[in-house]
Amino acid sequence: MRLNDARELLSSRTGPKSMSFDGVGGGPSTHEIVAALADVPQGLGHELLQALWWPESGLRRREQLRQAVVALVAPEFTRQMHALADARTEFGIAKASMGWCGGVVTDTQRREVRRSEQALEDARSAAWPNNTMEQLGVLAGAVIAEMAGACDCSRCAGKKVLPDPAGAGIVSCGDCGGSGFEHLSGRKRAAAIGADWSAYSRFWRPVYEWMLATFRAAEARAAKQFSKALTQDV
Ligand SMILES: [Zn+2]
Repeated sequence: MRLNDARELLSSRTGPKSMSFDGVGGGPSTHEIVAALADVPQGLGHELLQALWWPESGLRRREQLRQAVVALVAPEFTRQMHALADARTEFGIAKASMGWCGGVVTDTQRREVRRSEQALEDARSAAWPNNTMEQLGVLAGAVIAEMAGACDCSRCAGKKVLPDPAGAGIVSCGDCGGSGFEHLSGRKRAAAIGADWSAYSRFWRPVYEWMLATFRAAEARAAKQFSKALTQDV
């Protein structure tokens, strides 16, 4: 079953209406659809499937969705904060070690200062804003709204790939970054999270894009499991 057919089934919660004249066929019943959904492992994907394709159920599961979002984002945020603190510590040590206690400054020490300074700079530019956790609800809401309203990429028609212009084979679609979806402009995303465009593009874009890609992957995995459970149950 195509994933979009599975999603369609979930949002209608009834199998295809058309039945052959002898009453056979007609696809899964509402009961079978709900049972297949229960087979999808708990977690972000399970919650997103409902938030997106069965909003009434998603509304009742707000708390589960919140927990799943926190469980995904918080460890990555903490990892970045630790990486940043480690890089700052190493840079401090490298500076202090230059000519330690009146000793001669060596080339190795200079190289270490340059290396650790660059590493600190890299960690800083990769780190999400300090108040990412405070904004998590707003970010998650905007990301889910973008997923719910997403259209197929107009260049690749949602296929994620294009014929390779240089010859045979295929390449990832550059317009949608291989996601298969038309993405919202930075301005629309900024408005959705209550920031201005420059704050979005300077600070929020990395966390927004990471969440969008990770949420989409989780939803697609769950849709696959749902589709498989439907096929097995029917
Ligand atoms: Zn595309």
